[in-house]
Amino acid sequence: MGNLTFTMIKPDATAKGYTGAILDCMIKGGFTIKAMKWTRLTQEQAGDFYAVHKQRPFYDELVKFMSSGPIIAGILEKENAVADFRNLIGATDPAKAAEGTIRKQFASSIGENAVHGSDSDENAVIETDFFFSKLERF
Ligand code: GDP
Repeated sequence: MGNLTFTMIKPDATAKGYTGAILDCMIKGGFTIKAMKWTRLTQEQAGDFYAVHKQRPFYDELVKFMSSGPIIAGILEKENAVADFRNLIGATDPAKAAEGTIRKQFASSIGENAVHGSDSDENAVIETDFFFSKLERF
């Protein structure tokens, strides 16, 4: 089990002004911010990031949404980071997310679901490498 995971605060949440509240949830959930940046993906970059979902029916919608506005990308540290962060954010569909989870509180739909969290240690490394250079990790 690794102690790092990768997160994004998605365009729906940055647009609604939920950034501060979501960061607060992450910190109160026991995560330390190791790196963080405010940025915006092009459609091409969003397509590359979610390439694994290319065959899914929602892919085009997902790419359009994820490039529709600014995001916050971050590296979070905690023991058992990937699994614990998935618990903190809740189910993909906010209607199915447990009470108190970030998606339950801040997401509006299965597509516009406020936050991303890596689903494995391997993907945490791949996703971190997508956004952050060595200089930005210390
Ligand atoms: P996650 O690991 O909980 O983020 O979920 P997935 O890996 O299954 O999906 C990646 C992202 O695609 C989700 O976080 C949603 O933003 C989006 N997504 C998943 N399912 C759907 C869907 O049925 N419709 C739409 N529009 N977007 C979806």
